[in-house]
Amino acid sequence: MGGRDATMVLLDENGIRCDGRKVDEPRKIMIKAGGLKNADGSSYIEFGDNKILVGVFGPRDVHPKHMSNTDTGILRVRYHMEPFSVGERKRPAPSRREIEISKVIKEALEPAVMLEKFPRTAVDVFIEVLQADGGTRCAALTAASVALADAGIPMRDMVAAIASGKVADTIILDVNNEEDQAGQADMPVGYMPSLKKITLLQLDGVLTPEEYKKCVDVGVKGCELVYELQKQALHDKYFGNRKD
Ligand code: ADP
Repeated sequence: MGGRDATMVLLDENGIRCDGRKVDEPRKIMIKAGGLKNADGSSYIEFGDNKILVGVFGPRDVHPKHMSNTDTGILRVRYHMEPFSVGERKRPAPSRREIEISKVIKEALEPAVMLEKFPRTAVDVFIEVLQADGGTRCAALTAASVALADAGIPMRDMVAAIASGKVADTIILDVNNEEDQAGQADMPVGYMPSLKKITLLQLDGVLTPEEYKKCVDVGVKGCELVYELQKQALHDKYFGNRKD
């Protein structure tokens, strides 16, 4: 949660949010599988005003060799925000936040990837945030799953992600930047719908036990919606009429 702006109306008397959405309505989501010819797999996502590109490379040799594991493959994730991705120019050096989000996304993807199938090698996931508007870790995790699948990496399931949260004492789906800054809680959820397993759950803010449960439920339902779009993106590339 950033600084809370008490003057901002996050939910009006008709139950409409600051960007015109209903409480359970996600932002507009567009996912494209593929697109980068030099990557083994790639994807592009627009999640509201978030715009994120993901490139996947591997499985490939690990350098230096001592970083490899003879029993299993390793996943390496770099989440990077372009200096122009936010209104106020972001410092180009990797921030603590980017290092933390890279780790969070890696740990959320690991249960989905069959790393044991490619020992001694690494799969690299490069995430470039071109435009950020709240919820980039969820959008990036969603896109990274599609890029891994596009690369043909063996997976148990894809991880779909979206944040639920709380504004004006109401549980909402898909927290935008203003709601993240001025709202009461933000809960990013990553979920594997076929396996019914949560791989990412964070909470910034304060919730009662009932609200917590509702937030998880709303987040999981949102992930199921996102999952359909991930599958559609792969379907469009591999079975659709796309020319590229
Ligand atoms: P997430 O993007 O996953 O919600 P945060 O809660 O840390 O992660 O960030 C919320 C939003 O704050 C980001 O999506 C972005 O729009 C904005 N933001 C993050 N870092 C910066 C920064 N250095 N300068 C300005 N805005 C930022």
